[in-house]
Amino acid sequence: MKVDTNPMQRAHGAPRCTAKSKRTGLPCNNPAVRGWMVCRMHGAGVGHGSGKANPAYKHGMRSREAEDSRRAVNELTRMARALKQLTGSIG
Ligand SMILES: [Zn+2]
Repeated sequence: MKVDTNPMQRAHGAPRCTAKSKRTGLPCNNPAVRGWMVCRMHGAGVGHGSGKANPAYKHGMRSREAEDSRRAVNELTRMARALKQLTGSIG
């Protein structure tokens, strides 16, 4: 089987790093890591984890789960209050 296309075409067509040089101001243009806008030299694959892995994590009371459950409890309380007021006005 003969392959007409250059096997490197896919590699050359890969998205390029968007980082810009501090010295020259020119773009890096290395191939970007899959799922990232930058190459391996410009920070792809690093960064903070989420939740407890994040260095800014303090006590978890502001975590997404905690906020969601707090929001749900508040909504239930609001509904209970409204129901109480409604039933109180009827009889
Ligand atoms: Zn780069």
